[in-house]
Amino acid sequence: CSNSNPTGPIDTTLCDFETVESVNDDLFANLHELVAMPFFKFFQVDLYRECPFWSDDGSCSSPSCAITSVDESQIPERWRAKSLSKLEGSKIEERHELPGCYYRDSDFCFLDDNTDGDYYDLTLIPERYTGYAGPDTARIWRSIYEENCFGLSEVNVISGPTPGISVPDELPDAFKNEDNNEDDGQCLEKRVYYKVISGLHASISTHICQEYLNQTTGEWYPNLQCFINRVASHPERLQYIYFNTVLLLRAISRVGPYLQAFDYCSTGGHEDDAETLAKLSNVISIAQRAGQFDETLLFRGENAVLKEEFKEHFRNVTRIMDCVGCDKCRLWGKIQTTGIATALKILFELDEKALDPETNHNLLQRSEVVALINTLHRFSESLAAVDTFRKMWRATSVEE
Ligand code: FAD
Repeated sequence: CSNSNPTGPIDTTLCDFETVESVNDDLFANLHELVAMPFFKFFQVDLYRECPFWSDDGSCSSPSCAITSVDESQIPERWRAKSLSKLEGSKIEERHELPGCYYRDSDFCFLDDNTDGDYYDLTLIPERYTGYAGPDTARIWRSIYEENCFGLSEVNVISGPTPGISVPDELPDAFKNEDNNEDDGQCLEKRVYYKVISGLHASISTHICQEYLNQTTGEWYPNLQCFINRVASHPERLQYIYFNTVLLLRAISRVGPYLQAFDYCSTGGHEDDAETLAKLSNVISIAQRAGQFDETLLFRGENAVLKEEFKEHFRNVTRIMDCVGCDKCRLWGKIQTTGIATALKILFELDEKALDPETNHNLLQRSEVVALINTLHRFSESLAAVDTFRKMWRATSVEE
């Protein structure tokens, strides 16, 4: 736990821990209000697509896993399925069609086509402890880490974990990449990939521990021991939460002008729209200060060929989300993998010309913008929770 207060440069970024910590209060405050605005709180997603990798997805029957969608009548008309299909009908036909979802060549993610699925009000569905655990979650996380297998085997690149093949209980060493083997010759791309996944896992764990359920009293409370076991006793996991935060901030900084030109209208009136834009501008200005990451260092020279593999692996991770057996976890899993995929696309696929809002209006879909901002909010909230846990730990140490 003493290692849970990292200092100095954040590996593979141009930023340090102190900078991220110095901006996080401000960042979190702005994001917290931003994600409560109508544009950012409604997310449309088809949560009930079949798991493409195995048939028994181990549905979680815990009431904490249940979520309720919102009636479409609460959603501003222009976002509703019918209007969208009228507007975008021709565009959808051009897409690389897959049943229920699609991707463009530049995408790191399988997306919903925005005409299927229900709307959810994310402010009513906190990411927290649900009780979803056991062999099913272990299988999902193992499958996700197995997508970190670059250049070793092509077997699972397109189809994901082969149905019917049992995944070993322990992660094979080849898939592990905790910090002690930073210098073992793995390429930068593979290390970045692992940090993204492990950081996401650590952030989800932090949310679980931050709002843990006391099964006897029914009260929610921050569970310090849970945080120590899952995150703080593995300092590299905590560091990867910072890493993901910097990566997302860099993406938001790059796409800032495009986000500022995005159409936030009809979200509840002019005042709402102006407030949305003002808070977003604050987030972008923080991102310009703390999002220090040099994306041009990846996929250079002979490593350029790794980009397609990286993309395929991450797309598979977004598809594995359909196998998550707890509705609430699946919702947040889909949002966050979409948010990270959007950031990766912004960093590694789009040049300055493509990012110009004047010439490229259709760069991002609404769902990608909503996912990107909500994902940064998740990570920023995790960092705020880390602060709470540090204070709790210090208080415990003083008592002892
Ligand atoms: P797990 O978290 O399941 O980890 C499995 C193994 O992975 C560990 O034993 C460890 O060896 C390794 N590991 C753990 N953390 C890391 C890391 N950061 N980096 C590298 N390796 C690591 N549960 C909820 O209660 N609420 C949720 O909102 C929720 N959302 C989820 C979303 C997704 C996409 C998934 C797949 C699961 C979600 N879960 C959620 C389940 C939760 O993540 C755990 O799987 C569950 O709590 C069981 O935890 P565990 O202690 O067995 O270890």
